[in-house]
Amino acid sequence: MQLRIPGPTPCPDEVLRAIGRQMINHRGKEFGEMTNRIIPKLKQCFQTKNEVVILSTSGTGGLESAVVNMLSPGDKVLGISIGIFGDRFAECAKVYGAEVIPLKYEWGRAVDPDDVKKALKENPGVRAVMVTHNETSTGVTNPLKEIAKVVKDADKLILVDAVSSLSSIDLPVDAWDLDVVVTGSQKGWMVPPGLAFVSISERGWKAHAEAKMPRFYFDFSRAKKFAADGQTPWTPTVPVFFGMDVALDMMLKEGLPNIFARHARVAGKARAWVKSKGLQLLSADEKFASNTVTAVKAPDDMDVARFTSTLRDEYKVVIAGGQGGMKGKVFRIGHLGLVSEKDMDEVLAAMDKALPKAKK
Ligand code: PLP
Repeated sequence: MQLRIPGPTPCPDEVLRAIGRQMINHRGKEFGEMTNRIIPKLKQCFQTKNEVVILSTSGTGGLESAVVNMLSPGDKVLGISIGIFGDRFAECAKVYGAEVIPLKYEWGRAVDPDDVKKALKENPGVRAVMVTHNETSTGVTNPLKEIAKVVKDADKLILVDAVSSLSSIDLPVDAWDLDVVVTGSQKGWMVPPGLAFVSISERGWKAHAEAKMPRFYFDFSRAKKFAADGQTPWTPTVPVFFGMDVALDMMLKEGLPNIFARHARVAGKARAWVKSKGLQLLSADEKFASNTVTAVKAPDDMDVARFTSTLRDEYKVVIAGGQGGMKGKVFRIGHLGLVSEKDMDEVLAAMDKALPKAKK
């Protein structure tokens, strides 16, 4: 089976063996030693010296942790959205009582940093900017470096959803001075769902000390306190820790630049296929097309549900349809984590065969 959705992604055999191990005491020496190995390796992948906390939750829980630990009710935030996940991040802040100033783009578009500059000028009271690095619903990667520069020039906090980019697309957290960066285990990390990883800058910790939104399970102070002993405040998803210990070794052995280049090559193949079929990327400008997920506009005469079910049932290839309002109009090929050019060749060969069968 070729599982090519944008998460959960396939796990290497080494990871599958690791997660199948017997449980251990999460308050014992072995768990503490494992966490103390994982955190420095995670920091290398985040390209940061900042603290990285591990939460037992999915990506959305990581986003919620960023909101409740950084903000107070009534705080103004700029909620940038280029798709479903940007909307979700902003909604989470709104639910907790932040005043969200939306900066929304049509599906397929990337953020223009000049718009962020303008919005911050018009709204000097904004405390934080929330932005998605890689919008999984539209297959668009935002120019985060440029956005971050604008946000830092304006002296604001930046909270980043990097759930489907970090580990697969270059994201140097310290070089870009990002305050809170959230990612999830089931994406490019080659392990199952169950953990979110969150980096917090010094400025982020200061904001956290003042932030008044209610929090308990996701309280960064508790996470930090327990991390000092290689522990987590609550019972963690121990098997995913086992998997991460192994997966991180594999990633660091391959080397981050090689991982990023592999993702670029595989995504390049997917994009070339789209063009060769006379189809169109959802990404309005190929420059911003994602290296972890390719979203394709379905032509009017295409039945997306039939395409995905034919791929699954006849060719053992699982891809994703469109989300929310994009259902039936878009299909998406996930290519992150454990993916090679050979995998993509197989997927594209299957898509070649399934495409004519999806004609309405
Ligand atoms: N943000 C982005 C960019 C995502 O791709 C996802 C998951 O697909 C999420 C947030 C939410 O993560 P989860 O489904 O793990 O809660």
